[in-house]
Amino acid sequence: MRRAVYPGSFDPITLGHIDIIDRALNLFDELVVAVVRNPSKNALFSLEERQDIIGRVLPGRDRLKVATFSGLLVKFVEAQGAHAIVKGLRAVSDFDFEFQMSLLNRQLNPRIDTVFLMTQDRYAFLSSSSVREIASLGGSVNQMVPPLVEERLRERFGLSEPGRGQTVDRE
Ligand code: ADP
Repeated sequence: MRRAVYPGSFDPITLGHIDIIDRALNLFDELVVAVVRNPSKNALFSLEERQDIIGRVLPGRDRLKVATFSGLLVKFVEAQGAHAIVKGLRAVSDFDFEFQMSLLNRQLNPRIDTVFLMTQDRYAFLSSSSVREIASLGGSVNQMVPPLVEERLRERFGLSEPGRGQTVDRE
């Protein structure tokens, strides 16, 4: 059984994350999406909300599990009986940090490998932080996140229902 862990803040989950999840499911038998409890980051959604949202926007993927964790990633990966960490890469700017992390993790546990999946060009500039910022300013994020996430963002920022996106309907 090839099991992998895909860790991240997912605050909130975006279409870029979902693309990586679907492609990882093509490579591995099971994937654990691991939502990180990161007290140093000021989260918009609580750990439980983020986990709940992921479960709701990814139905029907029976080889997928959503979990939360804090502490050392390699320990969590070991405890899950997994041998791989999945990471998404957007731009060269992601690479430096991820390269360092993967070498550190390998030092901590040489049996665990990090697998990098390149994003699609349309998601190359998509991040949870930009989604939060755009939504907080009242902009449309419907090309960036699933409808449920868009709805949660609107609730969180107290915005009213827009006319779905920025397209103008002609009569
Ligand atoms: P963000 O950087 O958007 O806050 P996370 O901390 O939740 O995202 O990232 C979790 C993982 O998902 C990381 O490996 C990150 O590189 C990857 N990821 C995030 N956004 C994208 C995207 N648009 N395309 C591909 N991978 C992504």
